[in-house]
Amino acid sequence: MYKSSVLKRLLFAILILLVLLSSTECWAKRKKKSAEESLQASVKREVVLGDKIAEEIAKNMKFNEDPIYTARVRGIFNKLTPWTTRPLPYKIHIVKEKSPNAFCVPGGNIYVTTGLLNFVRSDAELAFVIAHELAHANGKHVIVQMERNQKLSLAALAVAIASRGAGAAIMLSNIAAVAMANAYSRDLEQEADLNGADLAERAGYDLIAGVTVMESLAEEELKQPWFDPGVYRDHPKISERIRYIADVVEKKGYKLHRKYVLKLLIPTLTEEGGNLIFKIDSTEISRAQKTPETLKSYETALQMTSDHLQMETPAYDIRVSSPHGHGGGVYAGVKPLYLSTFPGGTDGLETIRKRFLIALNEARKKHPMADYAM
Ligand SMILES: [Zn+2]
Repeated sequence: MYKSSVLKRLLFAILILLVLLSSTECWAKRKKKSAEESLQASVKREVVLGDKIAEEIAKNMKFNEDPIYTARVRGIFNKLTPWTTRPLPYKIHIVKEKSPNAFCVPGGNIYVTTGLLNFVRSDAELAFVIAHELAHANGKHVIVQMERNQKLSLAALAVAIASRGAGAAIMLSNIAAVAMANAYSRDLEQEADLNGADLAERAGYDLIAGVTVMESLAEEELKQPWFDPGVYRDHPKISERIRYIADVVEKKGYKLHRKYVLKLLIPTLTEEGGNLIFKIDSTEISRAQKTPETLKSYETALQMTSDHLQMETPAYDIRVSSPHGHGGGVYAGVKPLYLSTFPGGTDGLETIRKRFLIALNEARKKHPMADYAM
């Protein structure tokens, strides 16, 4: 997903391994085999390669073994892997690194950073990122990308590395910038988004999380001066991926409602000194002395707000109105949020409308990169 200097070094090491392995593969003796046997053989080769890369990674990076982190990550991972289609021995590792990131190497080793675990706002967001990497691994994307990249001149590099001369060092440093194998071209990235969304959906996760986590990454990107999208010109922009994932989600028949995965715009009812307080996040909407009637009203208001107030609700849609046959209230479009019969509703609807707007605005400020009109 992202690039960093540590990853650069690592992926560079991976590149060298890939080069060596793919060149030996080219000259490997070829026998006639059944499709089944050759599939097994190719998976086996890939796993051997992947394990070598994993060893290199283990030398260069520190892992987080905190049981709280590992339990969470493995729980999600184990829900996703049954839905992959290639028989790889999938494994997941948590790398100690501050920047939010995830990547995969051939053979089924998936890596997430502690930065990512602190960055996501729900298990569904984490599941989407892991599913995306699983889709890359399942689709053999690292190998596909390596084969495509003409600049690498694999055979020449293999010879140079074998010579261990000064030329090799220069060659390697020139390639270092290109060696961030985690940057896939557009079609592979989209394939991973699409197949990753399928995996996450089958595992029972809310797909909207795919949109919200990318929107959060877009915000993160603004804060990262080292982020350089120029190296891979074909690499899709985050904004483009957000649009693409949103399309996938909508085509699958889901409404783009972000609040559930973001845990924002959540109505609550609390009791304090005999009073009931109806809030949305930290914004108080209304309060009244607790009676069976006020409790019933607030419970209805809570349900209405839960169902009808979304991050995507346009501010101008929230208004005081009196549809005929009803006593009036605060509405989001044609859906009621708060009725005049509720506490404070008789003459305070305008105040209550303003508080709903404040709550909406506060929630959006916490997730600012979203295009709520899309
Ligand atoms: Zn990707």
